[in-house]
Amino acid sequence: MKLAVKWPAPANDQLRCQRKWTRQNMKPLALILFYLVVVALPLLLAWLTGGPPRPLLQELASGLGMLAFSMILMEFVLSGRFKKISNGIGMDVTMRFHQLMARTALAFALLHPFLYRGTASGDQRPWDPTRQLTTTTDFADLSSGIVAFLLLPSLVLLAAGRKQLDYKYETWRLMHGLGAVLIAGLLLHHTTQAGRYGSQPAMTWLWMAFTALAIASLVYVYLIAPLREIKQPWRVTAVTRLTPRQWHVTVAPDGHKGIEFKAGQFAWLNIGHSAFSLKENPFSICSAPASGPEISFLIKELGDFTRTLGRIKSGTTAYVDGPYGSLTVEGRNVPGIAFVAGGVGIAPLLGIIRQMRLTGDRRQIKLIYGNRTEGQIAFRDELDQLDVTYVVSEPATSWPGETGHIDHALIDHVFSPEEIREWLFVMCGPAVMMDIVEDHLVTRGASSHHILSERFDYD
Ligand SMILES: Cc1cc2nc3c(=O)[nH]c(=O)nc-3n(C[C@H](O)[C@H](O)[C@H](O)COP(=O)(O)OP(=O)(O)OC[C@H]3O[C@@H](n4cnc5c(N)ncnc54)[C@H](O)[C@@H]3O)c2cc1C
Repeated sequence: MKLAVKWPAPANDQLRCQRKWTRQNMKPLALILFYLVVVALPLLLAWLTGGPPRPLLQELASGLGMLAFSMILMEFVLSGRFKKISNGIGMDVTMRFHQLMARTALAFALLHPFLYRGTASGDQRPWDPTRQLTTTTDFADLSSGIVAFLLLPSLVLLAAGRKQLDYKYETWRLMHGLGAVLIAGLLLHHTTQAGRYGSQPAMTWLWMAFTALAIASLVYVYLIAPLREIKQPWRVTAVTRLTPRQWHVTVAPDGHKGIEFKAGQFAWLNIGHSAFSLKENPFSICSAPASGPEISFLIKELGDFTRTLGRIKSGTTAYVDGPYGSLTVEGRNVPGIAFVAGGVGIAPLLGIIRQMRLTGDRRQIKLIYGNRTEGQIAFRDELDQLDVTYVVSEPATSWPGETGHIDHALIDHVFSPEEIREWLFVMCGPAVMMDIVEDHLVTRGASSHHILSERFDYD
C-alpha cells in the first residue's frame, strides 16, 4: 500500500492545528525572554541598590562581570537535560545557544578587569568603607577571580576542541561538569568579596541563590533523575544487526508503563551500567508511540558504546531518560510531509512515518533516503511501501536508482515547486546535507517554519 494519498484536514482539525502552531511559535520567544530577564536580574538589582555614581567605563566593567557570571550560571540549566527548554526549542538549538552563550560570557569575563583602568585601587579608604569607589588589591579577594579568569578559557577551549583531543566523551563530560562547578564557586567568592556591587547584602543573596540553582540543576541531572530511573528500569528484548554497521535495539519497560513520547523524539539510553553512570548516549526512538510501550532504536556503530552492541544480551537492564527533542509533525497543518534522511538519520523519521501509518494520518508523504552503499539501506522492505527515492553515493554497477549525494537537483526532481512551498520538510542526517537542502528549500520559497531538522552532532 502506498501512503501517497492527498487528504485535506477537516476544518476543525485545521483550527486546532493553527492554535497549536501559534503556541509552538510562542515557546522559543518566551524562553528567550525568560533567559534575558534572568541574566539581567543582577544588573537590575545592582542598579536598584544604587551607590555613588562612577565613570561609565567602570560601570561597564562591573556590568560585564555580572553579566558574565549570570550567563555562566545559566549554562548549567542550558545543558540540554531540561525538557521544558530543549523540547520547546529543540536540542540542537539549545546546545548551540549553550555554546554561543559560553563564548559570549568568556568575552565579557576576559574584558571586564581591563575596564577598571584608572580606578582608585588599594586598601580600603576611610571615605569609602563599602568599596564603592575603589577596587580592591587584596590578593585573597582577587585570587579566586584570577584562577577563574585562567580556568574559564581552558574550559571553553577544551569544549570547542573536544573532537580534536583524543579522549573519551564520558571523561570530557565529567571534566566539563567539574570544571564548571569549580569556576562557579570561584566566581561566587570573587563577586561577593571583590565585586563593588556583589558585597551588598541583597546582591550577595542573589548570587548565592543563582549559584545554588546552578548546582541544583546538576544534582537533579546526576542524582535525582537517576534515582527516578532506578524505580523504572527497562530490559533489552532484542538486539539485531540490520546492515553491516547498524543495529536495531529494542527495550521494554520492566514493571511500569514506559514513557509517553511523540514520534521523532529521542532518549538517553544506558544499557548494562548503573543508573548513575555517565555511560549513556542519546538515540532517536525509531518505533511509533502507537505501537505500544516497547521502544526501539536504530543505532550505527561509531565508538566505545555503539561498537559493543553485538555483545548485549536480551534481558540486560537498561535505563531510558526521555523523551527529549522537538522533531515532531504533530499539530502541523500541512498537505504533505517530505522526509529527507542521510544514513542513520532515518531513525527519527522512521518513528514519524510509522506513527502516521498506525494512526491513519492520510497526509501525503515522500521520502529521500541517502546512503553510501545499497547495503546500508535499513528497513528497505518497509520503506519500499512508500513514495521513496533511494540515493547511493558509491553504487554497484547494477544499482538502478539515483546516485551521488542529496543535492539541489534531486530536491527539484522529487518535489514540485508547490510541494516545496507548502509541505513540511523533516530532515536528519549529516550536517552538510541538511545545510545544502535547507538553503535550497528557502531559496525555492519554503518558509523556515516548514523545515524541521535534528542534528546528531553539535560541533
Ligand atoms: C539528539 C541525538 C539523537 C541521536 N540519534 C541517534 C540514532 O538514532 N542513531 C544513532 O546511531 N546515533 C544517534 N545519535 C548519535 C549517537 O548519540 C552517537 O553516535 C553515540 O552517542 C556514539 O557513542 P559511542 O560511545 O559509540 O561513541 P563515542 O566515540 O563515545 O562518541 C562519538 C561521538 O558521539 C557523541 N556522543 C557520545 N556520547 C554522547 C552523549 N552522552 N551525549 C551526546 N553526544 C554523545 C559525541 O559527539 C562523541 O564525540 C544521536 C545523537 C543525538 C545528539
